[in-house]
Order: sequence, then C-alpha cells, then structure tokens
Amino acid sequence: MLVVNEVFTSLQGEGLLIGQPTTFIRFGGCNLRCVWCDTKYAVDPVAYGKLGEPFTVDLFMDRYKDLCSKTTAICFTGGDPMVQPRNEFLDLITRLNAMGKVTTLETAATLYDEDICKELAWVTLSPKLPSAEVGSMNYDVINDYLATCTDKLQFKFVVQHDEDEQELMKFTEGYYDILKKRNIPIVIQAVDGDMDILKKLASLGTNTNLNVRFLPRLHSLLNMR
Ligand code: SF4
Repeated sequence: MLVVNEVFTSLQGEGLLIGQPTTFIRFGGCNLRCVWCDTKYAVDPVAYGKLGEPFTVDLFMDRYKDLCSKTTAICFTGGDPMVQPRNEFLDLITRLNAMGKVTTLETAATLYDEDICKELAWVTLSPKLPSAEVGSMNYDVINDYLATCTDKLQFKFVVQHDEDEQELMKFTEGYYDILKKRNIPIVIQAVDGDMDILKKLASLGTNTNLNVRFLPRLHSLLNMR
C-alpha cells in the first residue's frame, strides 16, 4: 500500500519549476532523518502521529483524481517517495501520465529504480550535505540517476554552513564534466533563508560556467504550503 500523508495544490516553491501550479502528493516515510527537515510530520510517525493513510492505487485515484485534474504538474514529495512500494508507485505514475499529467519527483537520491525514472517527466535530486547529519552522498545512486534521466534532472542543495560549502565544491569538481556538458541545473537554497552562506557560494555560479541558480523558497515567501 502507498502511504499518503497529504495531497494539495499550490505553487511549486523550489527549483527550476518554481511558480508552477502543482498538485503535491506527499508520501509518508523516509529513510533519512535530516536534522533540519521541515516535513518531519511526513517522516516520523512516532513523534508526529500522522504518517498518513494507506492507499491502494485504485483508492488513491478514486479519492484524488479530481484534485489531480486541477493542475498539469504533479509533484511526488515526502518524506522520500522512493521508499514507497515500487510497483504501486510505478502504477500511480503511469496512470497519472495517462491523464496527461507532468509527473515530477523530489528525492534525496539514496534510492533508485530505473523504470520509475523512465516514467517521470522531471526529477529533482537533493543529496544531503553535512549539515543534514545523515552521512555522505550516495554517489552510486546519483550515477544511476544521471545515466537514466539524461535531460530531465536538476540537483537541489540545501546549504547551512562552511562544511556544506566545501562538500558542494567537491561535488561540483568531481562531476564538473557531466554537469557542464549537459548543462544540468544546480539549485542552491539556504536553510532558513540564510543569505550569508548564499553570498559566500556565489562564486560557484560566477566562476565555474556551471548552470547554478540561487533561488528562494517561494511558498515560504508567500506563506503558502
Ligand atoms: S530526506 Fe527530505 S524528507 Fe527525508 S528527512 Fe531529509 S529533508 Fe526530511
């Protein structure tokens, strides 16, 4: 069964699709526990007691098809959607695609499935930097996404302190050729909107020729969810 925490329409608040009217399907559950996670209610059922309801795909479509009809873009978020049962998640994506939806995924890039990737229109990989305190990035999984999602992928990094800056620099150096050759967007956001760390990182955009974007979180600015 899929575990669904909440379904709602809003504006995409993050990344290159910022501002786009979107239906968000927030799944319950995550394999990480980032210290600054802002959706802990979708991650930790014991602490928050609202992990979500179990749904078959049929039940989900019965309940939420009309809501999903209101926007072209659908964003699977969480938690991390990739902890959901693979076949049911794939079935849901396929059915929404058949409705003409543009299905997108937000994931921390620690779990991967080739068929799911192929079905999606857009993938946001958000590997965690040291400030999240969940260990190092999973480069094998990142490589898998890069191999499958050749032209429909962005990276999103949340930065908080100097260690994040150093790790991000290491990442962009290690992947420089592929990031440059494919012009892969790298979106950088600050935890709690801390502008100082963004200013320190500006050279990553101005000195490297990479497709870097420093973006705010629109939904926070507009006080929307
Ligand atoms: S991966 Fe995302 S949802 Fe999971 S704990 Fe980290 S910030 Fe929260």
